[in-house]
Amino acid sequence: MLTDIRSQLNEELEAQFRAWGQPAYRVAQLLEWLYVHRAANWDTMTNLPRALQDELRKHYSLTALELIRKQGARDTTQKFLWRLTDQALIESVLIPANPALYGESSDRRTLCVSTQVGCAYGCKFCASGLEGWKRNLRVEEIVGQVLAVERWNAEESKVQSPESKVQNQEVEPSGQHPEPSVLHHASRITHLASPNPQPSTLNSQPRLVSNLVIMGMGEPLANYENLLKALRILNAPWGGGIGARKITISTSGLAPQIRKLAAEPMQFRLAISLHGATDATRNKIMPVNRKYPLSELAAACEYYQQKRGRMITFEYVLIAGVNDGLDQVQPLAALARRLKAKVNLIPYNKVDGLPWERPSE
Ligand code: SF4
Repeated sequence: MLTDIRSQLNEELEAQFRAWGQPAYRVAQLLEWLYVHRAANWDTMTNLPRALQDELRKHYSLTALELIRKQGARDTTQKFLWRLTDQALIESVLIPANPALYGESSDRRTLCVSTQVGCAYGCKFCASGLEGWKRNLRVEEIVGQVLAVERWNAEESKVQSPESKVQNQEVEPSGQHPEPSVLHHASRITHLASPNPQPSTLNSQPRLVSNLVIMGMGEPLANYENLLKALRILNAPWGGGIGARKITISTSGLAPQIRKLAAEPMQFRLAISLHGATDATRNKIMPVNRKYPLSELAAACEYYQQKRGRMITFEYVLIAGVNDGLDQVQPLAALARRLKAKVNLIPYNKVDGLPWERPSE
Protein backbone atom coordinates (compact mmCIF):
# COMPACT_ATOMS: atom_id res chain seq x y z
CA MET A 1 0.00 0.00 0.00
CA LEU A 2 1.38 3.41 -0.98
CA THR A 3 1.82 6.18 1.58
CA ASP A 4 -0.85 8.81 1.06
CA ILE A 5 0.53 12.21 0.17
CA ARG A 6 -1.80 13.87 2.69
CA SER A 7 -0.15 12.03 5.55
CA GLN A 8 3.14 13.77 4.86
CA LEU A 9 4.65 16.72 6.66
CA ASN A 10 6.37 19.53 4.78
CA GLU A 11 9.79 18.32 5.94
CA GLU A 12 9.13 14.74 4.83
CA LEU A 13 8.20 15.95 1.35
CA GLU A 14 11.22 18.24 1.22
CA ALA A 15 13.52 15.32 2.02
CA GLN A 16 11.90 13.17 -0.68
CA PHE A 17 12.06 15.96 -3.27
CA ARG A 18 15.73 16.55 -2.41
CA ALA A 19 16.39 12.85 -3.01
CA TRP A 20 14.70 13.17 -6.40
CA GLY A 21 16.79 16.22 -7.23
CA GLN A 22 13.73 18.48 -7.30
CA PRO A 23 14.00 22.12 -6.19
CA ALA A 24 12.32 23.13 -2.91
CA TYR A 25 9.77 25.39 -4.62
CA ARG A 26 8.18 22.29 -6.15
CA VAL A 27 7.15 21.20 -2.63
CA ALA A 28 5.46 24.56 -2.12
CA GLN A 29 3.63 24.10 -5.42
CA LEU A 30 2.49 20.62 -4.42
CA LEU A 31 1.31 21.81 -1.00
CA GLU A 32 -0.68 24.59 -2.64
CA TRP A 33 -2.44 22.02 -4.81
CA LEU A 34 -3.19 19.87 -1.79
CA TYR A 35 -4.25 22.42 0.80
CA VAL A 36 -5.33 25.54 -1.13
CA HIS A 37 -6.92 23.96 -4.19
CA ARG A 38 -7.73 20.73 -2.31
CA ALA A 39 -6.88 18.76 -5.44
CA ALA A 40 -8.31 15.25 -5.52
CA ASN A 41 -6.14 13.89 -8.33
CA TRP A 42 -2.67 14.39 -9.77
CA ASP A 43 -3.83 15.49 -13.23
CA THR A 44 -5.07 18.83 -11.95
CA MET A 45 -1.55 19.81 -10.79
CA THR A 46 -0.84 21.51 -14.09
CA ASN A 47 2.27 23.45 -13.02
CA LEU A 48 4.16 20.31 -11.92
CA PRO A 49 6.28 18.75 -14.68
CA ARG A 50 4.86 15.50 -16.07
CA ALA A 51 7.93 13.54 -14.88
CA LEU A 52 7.41 14.75 -11.32
CA GLN A 53 3.71 13.92 -11.48
CA ASP A 54 4.66 10.38 -12.59
CA GLU A 55 7.17 10.07 -9.74
CA LEU A 56 4.54 11.22 -7.24
CA ARG A 57 2.01 8.77 -8.64
CA LYS A 58 4.52 5.92 -8.28
CA HIS A 59 5.38 6.73 -4.66
CA TYR A 60 2.20 8.13 -3.12
CA SER A 61 -1.54 7.64 -3.22
CA LEU A 62 -3.92 10.59 -3.30
CA THR A 63 -7.21 9.37 -1.94
CA ALA A 64 -10.31 11.45 -1.33
CA LEU A 65 -13.22 10.60 0.93
CA GLU A 66 -16.35 9.66 -0.94
CA LEU A 67 -19.46 11.54 0.15
CA ILE A 68 -22.35 9.13 0.62
CA ARG A 69 -24.91 11.41 2.22
CA LYS A 70 -25.20 14.91 3.56
CA GLN A 71 -27.96 15.85 5.97
CA GLY A 72 -28.91 19.34 7.11
CA ALA A 73 -29.43 22.62 5.32
CA ARG A 74 -27.63 25.94 5.19
CA ASP A 75 -26.97 27.54 8.55
CA THR A 76 -27.92 24.40 10.40
CA THR A 77 -25.74 21.57 11.59
CA GLN A 78 -24.76 19.51 8.54
CA LYS A 79 -23.75 15.84 8.78
CA PHE A 80 -21.46 14.28 6.17
CA LEU A 81 -21.30 10.51 5.82
CA TRP A 82 -18.06 9.40 4.11
CA ARG A 83 -17.00 6.09 2.62
CA LEU A 84 -13.33 5.17 3.05
CA THR A 85 -11.30 3.09 0.59
CA ASP A 86 -12.04 -0.12 2.54
CA GLN A 87 -15.79 0.71 2.40
CA ALA A 88 -15.91 1.66 6.11
CA LEU A 89 -18.18 4.60 6.92
CA ILE A 90 -17.44 7.58 9.13
CA GLU A 91 -19.13 10.91 9.83
CA SER A 92 -18.07 14.54 10.14
CA VAL A 93 -20.39 17.26 11.36
CA LEU A 94 -20.21 20.91 10.31
CA ILE A 95 -21.53 23.18 13.03
CA PRO A 96 -22.58 26.75 12.15
CA ALA A 97 -21.09 29.84 13.74
CA ASN A 98 -21.52 29.91 17.46
CA PRO A 99 -20.70 32.89 19.66
CA ALA A 100 -19.10 31.06 22.56
CA LEU A 101 -18.12 27.50 21.80
CA TYR A 102 -15.27 26.03 23.90
CA GLY A 103 -14.12 29.30 25.38
CA GLU A 104 -13.68 31.13 22.06
CA SER A 105 -15.18 34.62 21.84
CA SER A 106 -16.69 33.61 18.49
CA ASP A 107 -16.04 31.16 15.72
CA ARG A 108 -17.05 30.76 12.11
CA ARG A 109 -17.54 27.12 11.21
CA THR A 110 -16.56 24.25 13.44
CA LEU A 111 -16.01 20.76 12.04
CA CYS A 112 -16.44 17.78 14.32
CA VAL A 113 -14.04 15.11 13.08
CA SER A 114 -13.95 11.32 13.57
CA THR A 115 -10.75 9.51 14.55
CA GLN A 116 -11.69 5.82 14.45
CA VAL A 117 -14.08 3.48 12.67
CA GLY A 118 -16.31 2.45 15.57
CA CYS A 119 -15.07 2.68 19.14
CA ALA A 120 -13.80 0.21 21.71
CA TYR A 121 -14.79 2.20 24.79
CA GLY A 122 -18.45 1.19 24.85
CA CYS A 123 -20.02 4.19 26.61
CA LYS A 124 -23.55 2.98 27.21
CA PHE A 125 -25.32 6.02 25.74
CA CYS A 126 -23.25 6.33 22.55
CA ALA A 127 -24.15 5.11 19.07
CA SER A 128 -20.51 5.04 17.92
CA GLY A 129 -19.60 2.23 20.29
CA LEU A 130 -22.58 0.00 19.44
CA GLU A 131 -20.72 -2.19 16.97
CA GLY A 132 -17.33 -2.04 18.63
CA TRP A 133 -14.00 -0.84 17.27
CA LYS A 134 -12.95 -1.66 13.70
CA ARG A 135 -9.78 0.35 13.14
CA ASN A 136 -7.96 3.62 13.69
CA LEU A 137 -8.28 6.27 11.00
CA ARG A 138 -5.08 6.95 9.11
CA VAL A 139 -3.55 10.43 9.10
CA GLU A 140 -4.90 11.23 5.63
CA GLU A 141 -8.41 10.11 6.61
CA ILE A 142 -8.44 12.62 9.49
CA VAL A 143 -6.94 15.44 7.39
CA GLY A 144 -9.20 14.39 4.49
CA GLN A 145 -12.41 15.14 6.42
CA VAL A 146 -11.55 18.85 6.55
CA LEU A 147 -10.41 18.94 2.92
CA ALA A 148 -13.45 17.02 1.68
CA VAL A 149 -15.90 19.36 3.42
CA GLU A 150 -14.05 22.38 2.03
CA ARG A 151 -13.91 20.82 -1.43
CA TRP A 152 -17.63 20.11 -1.23
CA ASN A 153 -18.16 23.76 -0.31
CA ALA A 154 -16.03 24.95 -3.24
CA GLU A 155 -17.92 22.69 -5.65
CA GLU A 156 -21.23 23.99 -4.34
CA SER A 157 -20.20 27.57 -4.95
CA LYS A 158 -18.96 26.76 -8.47
CA VAL A 159 -22.49 25.66 -9.30
CA GLN A 160 -23.72 29.04 -8.11
CA SER A 161 -21.15 31.25 -9.84
CA PRO A 162 -21.20 31.63 -13.67
CA GLU A 163 -17.65 33.12 -13.64
CA SER A 164 -16.26 30.13 -11.85
CA LYS A 165 -17.97 27.82 -14.34
CA VAL A 166 -15.89 29.48 -17.11
CA GLN A 167 -12.77 29.17 -14.97
CA ASN A 168 -13.61 25.52 -14.38
CA GLN A 169 -13.76 24.77 -18.11
CA GLU A 170 -10.33 26.33 -18.57
CA VAL A 171 -8.49 24.57 -15.79
CA GLU A 172 -10.21 21.41 -14.61
CA PRO A 173 -10.07 18.41 -16.95
CA SER A 174 -13.55 17.16 -17.81
CA GLY A 175 -15.01 14.45 -15.59
CA GLN A 176 -12.57 15.22 -12.79
CA HIS A 177 -14.98 16.61 -10.23
CA PRO A 178 -14.04 14.82 -7.05
CA GLU A 179 -17.55 14.37 -5.71
CA PRO A 180 -20.08 15.05 -8.46
CA SER A 181 -23.02 13.77 -6.48
CA VAL A 182 -22.83 16.61 -3.98
CA LEU A 183 -23.49 19.17 -6.72
CA HIS A 184 -27.11 18.12 -6.79
CA HIS A 185 -27.87 19.21 -3.26
CA ALA A 186 -30.42 21.98 -3.04
CA SER A 187 -28.85 23.44 0.07
CA ARG A 188 -26.14 26.08 -0.02
CA ILE A 189 -23.74 27.24 2.60
CA THR A 190 -22.78 30.86 3.10
CA HIS A 191 -19.10 31.54 2.60
CA LEU A 192 -17.62 33.12 5.61
CA ALA A 193 -14.82 35.61 5.59
CA SER A 194 -11.55 33.94 6.52
CA PRO A 195 -8.91 35.57 8.73
CA ASN A 196 -6.33 34.45 6.13
CA PRO A 197 -8.10 34.48 2.78
CA GLN A 198 -6.44 32.24 0.18
CA PRO A 199 -5.91 33.36 -3.41
CA SER A 200 -9.12 33.10 -5.38
CA THR A 201 -8.49 30.27 -7.84
CA LEU A 202 -10.22 27.10 -8.83
CA ASN A 203 -11.25 25.11 -5.75
CA SER A 204 -9.60 27.64 -3.47
CA GLN A 205 -12.54 29.25 -1.74
CA PRO A 206 -11.72 31.06 1.50
CA ARG A 207 -11.31 28.58 4.32
CA LEU A 208 -14.67 27.31 5.46
CA VAL A 209 -13.56 25.48 8.58
CA SER A 210 -12.03 27.74 11.22
CA ASN A 211 -12.38 25.50 14.28
CA LEU A 212 -12.07 21.78 14.88
CA VAL A 213 -13.54 19.64 17.60
CA ILE A 214 -12.13 16.14 17.71
CA MET A 215 -15.18 14.41 19.09
CA GLY A 216 -16.74 12.45 16.23
CA MET A 217 -16.69 8.67 16.02
CA GLY A 218 -13.97 7.07 18.15
CA GLU A 219 -11.84 7.87 21.19
CA PRO A 220 -9.34 10.42 19.82
CA LEU A 221 -6.56 9.74 22.31
CA ALA A 222 -6.68 6.01 21.50
CA ASN A 223 -5.41 6.95 18.02
CA TYR A 224 -2.83 9.33 19.46
CA GLU A 225 0.02 9.24 16.92
CA ASN A 226 -2.16 9.50 13.80
CA LEU A 227 -4.30 12.21 15.36
CA LEU A 228 -1.33 14.32 16.43
CA LYS A 229 0.31 14.08 13.02
CA ALA A 230 -2.99 14.97 11.31
CA LEU A 231 -3.36 17.97 13.61
CA ARG A 232 0.18 19.12 12.82
CA ILE A 233 -0.80 19.11 9.14
CA LEU A 234 -4.13 20.84 9.76
CA ASN A 235 -2.44 23.42 11.97
CA ALA A 236 0.55 24.18 9.72
CA PRO A 237 0.54 27.42 7.69
CA TRP A 238 1.42 25.31 4.62
CA GLY A 239 -1.46 22.89 5.45
CA GLY A 240 -4.89 23.48 6.96
CA GLY A 241 -3.89 26.75 8.65
CA ILE A 242 -6.22 26.17 11.63
CA GLY A 243 -4.81 27.67 14.83
CA ALA A 244 -4.05 25.16 17.61
CA ARG A 245 -6.16 27.22 20.02
CA LYS A 246 -9.10 26.61 17.70
CA ILE A 247 -8.69 22.86 17.95
CA THR A 248 -10.42 21.05 20.83
CA ILE A 249 -9.51 17.44 21.54
CA SER A 250 -12.06 15.43 23.46
CA THR A 251 -11.46 12.27 25.47
CA SER A 252 -13.59 9.94 27.54
CA GLY A 253 -10.81 10.00 30.13
CA LEU A 254 -7.57 8.31 29.01
CA ALA A 255 -5.47 9.73 31.84
CA PRO A 256 -1.97 8.70 30.58
CA GLN A 257 -2.63 10.20 27.13
CA ILE A 258 -3.89 13.44 28.71
CA ARG A 259 -0.51 13.73 30.44
CA LYS A 260 1.25 12.99 27.17
CA LEU A 261 -0.82 15.66 25.41
CA ALA A 262 0.24 18.18 28.05
CA ALA A 263 3.82 17.81 26.81
CA GLU A 264 2.98 18.53 23.16
CA PRO A 265 4.22 21.87 21.86
CA MET A 266 0.85 22.80 20.32
CA GLN A 267 -1.71 24.62 22.47
CA PHE A 268 -4.78 22.47 21.93
CA ARG A 269 -7.91 22.84 24.00
CA LEU A 270 -8.99 19.81 26.01
CA ALA A 271 -12.55 18.63 26.59
CA ILE A 272 -13.38 15.73 28.89
CA SER A 273 -16.50 13.65 28.22
CA LEU A 274 -17.33 13.49 31.90
CA HIS A 275 -21.04 12.58 32.04
CA GLY A 276 -20.88 11.72 35.73
CA ALA A 277 -19.30 13.45 38.74
CA THR A 278 -18.92 10.37 40.94
CA ASP A 279 -17.29 7.01 40.23
CA ALA A 280 -20.58 5.24 40.93
CA THR A 281 -22.39 7.21 38.23
CA ARG A 282 -19.54 7.16 35.73
CA ASN A 283 -19.01 3.43 36.20
CA LYS A 284 -22.64 2.82 35.22
CA ILE A 285 -22.32 4.45 31.80
CA MET A 286 -18.59 4.68 30.96
CA PRO A 287 -16.53 1.49 31.28
CA VAL A 288 -13.32 3.55 30.86
CA ASN A 289 -13.90 4.84 34.40
CA ARG A 290 -13.04 1.43 35.83
CA LYS A 291 -9.58 1.71 34.31
CA TYR A 292 -9.06 5.41 35.01
CA PRO A 293 -11.33 6.39 37.91
CA LEU A 294 -12.19 10.02 38.60
CA SER A 295 -9.28 10.57 41.01
CA GLU A 296 -6.80 9.54 38.30
CA LEU A 297 -8.62 11.48 35.57
CA ALA A 298 -8.82 14.61 37.72
CA ALA A 299 -5.09 14.40 38.54
CA ALA A 300 -4.25 14.11 34.83
CA CYS A 301 -6.52 17.09 34.04
CA GLU A 302 -4.91 19.09 36.83
CA TYR A 303 -1.48 18.28 35.37
CA TYR A 304 -2.65 19.35 31.90
CA GLN A 305 -4.20 22.52 33.27
CA GLN A 306 -1.06 23.45 35.22
CA LYS A 307 1.28 22.65 32.36
CA ARG A 308 -0.73 24.38 29.66
CA GLY A 309 -2.59 27.02 31.66
CA ARG A 310 -5.60 26.37 29.48
CA MET A 311 -9.21 26.06 30.53
CA ILE A 312 -10.61 22.54 30.29
CA THR A 313 -14.22 21.87 29.31
CA PHE A 314 -16.30 19.12 30.89
CA GLU A 315 -18.88 17.72 28.50
CA TYR A 316 -21.83 16.45 30.50
CA VAL A 317 -24.66 14.75 28.61
CA LEU A 318 -27.72 14.69 30.87
CA ILE A 319 -29.57 11.36 30.74
CA ALA A 320 -32.91 11.09 32.52
CA GLY A 321 -32.66 9.21 35.80
CA VAL A 322 -29.03 8.20 35.21
CA ASN A 323 -26.73 11.17 35.82
CA ASP A 324 -29.11 14.14 36.19
CA GLY A 325 -29.75 13.81 39.93
CA LEU A 326 -28.98 16.55 42.43
CA ASP A 327 -26.39 14.21 43.99
CA GLN A 328 -24.11 15.01 41.03
CA VAL A 329 -24.25 18.77 41.46
CA GLN A 330 -21.92 19.23 44.42
CA PRO A 331 -19.16 16.89 43.18
CA LEU A 332 -19.41 18.36 39.68
CA ALA A 333 -19.09 21.90 40.99
CA ALA A 334 -16.18 20.93 43.23
CA LEU A 335 -14.33 19.23 40.38
CA ALA A 336 -14.96 22.13 37.99
CA ARG A 337 -13.76 24.62 40.60
CA ARG A 338 -10.64 22.61 41.37
CA LEU A 339 -9.71 22.35 37.69
CA LYS A 340 -11.03 25.80 36.69
CA ALA A 341 -13.12 23.91 34.14
CA LYS A 342 -16.13 25.05 32.20
CA VAL A 343 -19.12 22.69 32.26
CA ASN A 344 -21.10 22.16 29.08
CA LEU A 345 -24.49 20.58 29.92
CA ILE A 346 -26.05 18.81 26.95
CA PRO A 347 -29.50 17.17 27.10
CA TYR A 348 -29.27 13.63 25.72
CA ASN A 349 -30.41 13.02 22.13
CA LYS A 350 -32.22 9.73 21.92
CA VAL A 351 -30.42 6.98 19.96
CA ASP A 352 -32.47 4.23 18.30
CA GLY A 353 -31.87 0.91 19.99
CA LEU A 354 -30.71 2.43 23.29
CA PRO A 355 -33.01 2.74 26.32
CA TRP A 356 -31.84 6.15 27.54
CA GLU A 357 -34.11 9.21 27.60
CA ARG A 358 -33.65 12.98 27.50
CA PRO A 359 -34.53 14.61 30.84
CA SER A 360 -37.35 17.10 31.23
CA GLU A 361 -36.55 20.83 31.09
S1 SF4 B 1 -15.35 7.06 23.83
FE1 SF4 B 1 -16.62 8.53 22.69
S2 SF4 B 1 -17.08 7.48 20.74
FE2 SF4 B 1 -16.30 5.93 22.15
S3 SF4 B 1 -18.15 5.00 23.04
FE3 SF4 B 1 -17.46 6.64 24.44
S4 SF4 B 1 -18.59 8.49 23.81
FE4 SF4 B 1 -18.75 6.96 22.14
